[in-house]
Amino acid sequence: MKDQINHTKEIMWQATVSCDSSYDGIFFYAVRTTGIFCRPSCKSKVPNCENVSFFPNAKDAKNAGYRPCKRCRPDLNIKTYDPLENLVKDTKRLIKNRYAQNLSLHKIASEVGVSRFHLNRIFKDKTGYTPRLYLEKIRVNEAKEILLTTNLNSTEVGYRIGYQSVSSFYNAFKRNTGLSPSQFRAYRNLNNDNQEID
Ligand SMILES: [Zn+2]
Repeated sequence: MKDQINHTKEIMWQATVSCDSSYDGIFFYAVRTTGIFCRPSCKSKVPNCENVSFFPNAKDAKNAGYRPCKRCRPDLNIKTYDPLENLVKDTKRLIKNRYAQNLSLHKIASEVGVSRFHLNRIFKDKTGYTPRLYLEKIRVNEAKEILLTTNLNSTEVGYRIGYQSVSSFYNAFKRNTGLSPSQFRAYRNLNNDNQEID
């Protein structure tokens, strides 16, 4: 009997380590050091094995004094709550709010509470872009706005939207629009003039 329990524990531990979503709803794991419980699929950092206990349902974990994880929300019905969708939402929100800062993938991943590898894969799965590319698109959109509404030069625009060098801004802008920042501004102004003439 004891062997069987150990065997089951080993399976649950492996499912936890590999974030296996096929075990979601079958068991929950709780981490003593954080006081939090999670679904097996949760992409939060893998805890130390000796701090982990397993529960067959969320109620038992709560009764044992654990709080539900904010990321995987083990207290909600999996059918109405998609933790991965939420991870993508959090990531987008973070990028939109802080694109002007020096944001690395490492920083974004640690703020949303998953590894870079997981974030890249999940974000790309759900949106078709990597987080880095998404950040670039947000920045370029903002750059267009600034170029058309201010007299800031390309260098100043680049720094304002979070680029650390003028060449990385230039390359990102060109990749997304096919134009250099100054071409874009000139082209748009030209088109506006034409519209006014018409
Ligand atoms: Zn969790």
